[in-house]
Amino acid sequence: MVSPGQSWSLRRRFTQLLLFAALVPALLFSGVMLWQQYQSEHRSLGEQTGLSASLTASSIDDFIHSRLAGMAMLAQNRGNGSDDWSADLDSLLAAYPGLISALVTDRDGRIIAHAPSTVVMQRDDAPRSVADREYFRNPERHLRPYVSNAFQGRALGEDPLVAISAPIIRNGDFNGIVEASIHVETFVDQRGDVFRSRGYEMLLLDRRGRIIHATEGLPYRFLDIVDDPRLTLQGEVPLHLARTSFERRILGDGNAFVSRSRMRSGWTLVLLAPDRQLLETISRNTLVLVALLILISLGVLAATWAQLRALASGTGRLLDALRNFAVGAPVDRDGTDRMPMELQPVADAVSELSDRLSRAYGELNASLDEQRRLAASLQTVIEERDDEIAARTADLRQAVEELERVASIDALTGALNVRGFRRAVNALVEEPEYDDTSIAALIVDVDHFKAYNDRYGHPAGDTVLKRVVGIMTSLLRGPGDVLARVGGEEFAILLCDADEGIATEVAQRLSSNVRNTGIPHADGIHGVVTISIGVAVQPSPQFMDRLLSQADEALYRAKRNGRDRVGV
Ligand code: GH3
Ligand code: MG
Ligand code: MG
Repeated sequence: MVSPGQSWSLRRRFTQLLLFAALVPALLFSGVMLWQQYQSEHRSLGEQTGLSASLTASSIDDFIHSRLAGMAMLAQNRGNGSDDWSADLDSLLAAYPGLISALVTDRDGRIIAHAPSTVVMQRDDAPRSVADREYFRNPERHLRPYVSNAFQGRALGEDPLVAISAPIIRNGDFNGIVEASIHVETFVDQRGDVFRSRGYEMLLLDRRGRIIHATEGLPYRFLDIVDDPRLTLQGEVPLHLARTSFERRILGDGNAFVSRSRMRSGWTLVLLAPDRQLLETISRNTLVLVALLILISLGVLAATWAQLRALASGTGRLLDALRNFAVGAPVDRDGTDRMPMELQPVADAVSELSDRLSRAYGELNASLDEQRRLAASLQTVIEERDDEIAARTADLRQAVEELERVASIDALTGALNVRGFRRAVNALVEEPEYDDTSIAALIVDVDHFKAYNDRYGHPAGDTVLKRVVGIMTSLLRGPGDVLARVGGEEFAILLCDADEGIATEVAQRLSSNVRNTGIPHADGIHGVVTISIGVAVQPSPQFMDRLLSQADEALYRAKRNGRDRVGV
């Protein structure tokens, strides 16, 4: 039995199992996957930023230099022509969108033509000479096209402008410049908007590190000086090849990839791609994944719980079946048939066990009945045998008694023989009832019997013995009286409860009866068969030996005194 402290629930076990065997590995795996995704997207964001910075730098360069090339061609073509530039400047502005004004100077920097024609002259303070401007002095000095740093327009509002200029060479000498102003917005706004829409920030720095353009998310305004070394490029670097680095806390508290690309004009294009979006994407993905895992787990738990409930009802039915089985009621087969497949073998086993057990009970009962029947019949046989044995034993006892009796009787005369006499004597001696009873002994001997045999023959002698015994038997009446043949023609008589008088009287009568019978004996006394008797008396059978020897002595005396008499 499981003690209450150790009890456990399949449902809780399974939930724990699900948590540790499925959910934790799934979470770990998802974590690794998300981390890898973050790493890869992080890397790809860096690469994208670098690529975008290179492409943007190169496309702005293309924008400016295509216009510069147009102006250089105009300056070269018109180098030897007339001084009337108005038409050429108008067509230049028309050909290149983004050029908002153009002018031509002579070799001293004085403006000799401009377009649109109204612009410069409309304002009183508009300069007539641009000899102090870099866009004049640089082509004058180097005889090469020039792209200026950023500056604030004077003639046309105060918009951020960039000037591009090309020298007019006549006969190999510097003969003035063609200059055009480009509104910065025309080449940065569209790109900036695109980057902003993707969460990027863009910076365009001129050669002095001043802001030409900064998107709205950055804390810089036009012409601000950027002194953060992470946003600038120092020294000689290859054109358009972006340098990308991941910088922490560069956009306020946020981190971002910073790609810096050097442009042909010496400007620097800086693209900042914050990793905020990346983190947002990853955390969104994490949330989705966790929600998905939770949903899956709940689904699995619900399914499992439903299955466990089915299993519980199955085991419940099984338990009912077992209970029925235990109390010997019939097992409900319909109930066990509706078990889930997994429990079916157990249900079948219970049914089979119940069948076999009830069969076994049946057989056991039958065998018990048979045994009871056998035991009963055995009892009858035993009783019959007992009765038979008892009967046989009784028969045997009777036979033994008969044998004993026969063995105690003298075959010739029917009186007790010596053996029978000893048994009778022992019975008297051992019987306490006779302890205080006086007892008399008569020893009887036929007179001159040898002579009788000699004269009349032995068989005649036997007949005499039988007749003498017959006379003695007829005189004995007492229940304890004993007559035995103790020698050839010698007999002993025991009389219970007899004193000397009675004993002598019995002896006298015996003597006279034999004599009076008158069996002829030619050699006997008076010519007939006679007997001599010795009588003795004792107060108890305990003195048997003395009694018999006294009787013997008395007989001896009777013989010596002449025979045919009683000696006392
Ligand atoms: P007494 O008067 O002194 O007794 O003389 P007796 O001849 O009777 O005595 P004795 O002892 O000399 O002889 C006994 C005889 O009894 C001897 C024997 O032949 C005879 N006798 C003993 N047993 C039997 C018997 O069973 N049948 C017959 N016929 N004779 C017997
Ligand atoms: Mg004798
Ligand atoms: Mg004799």
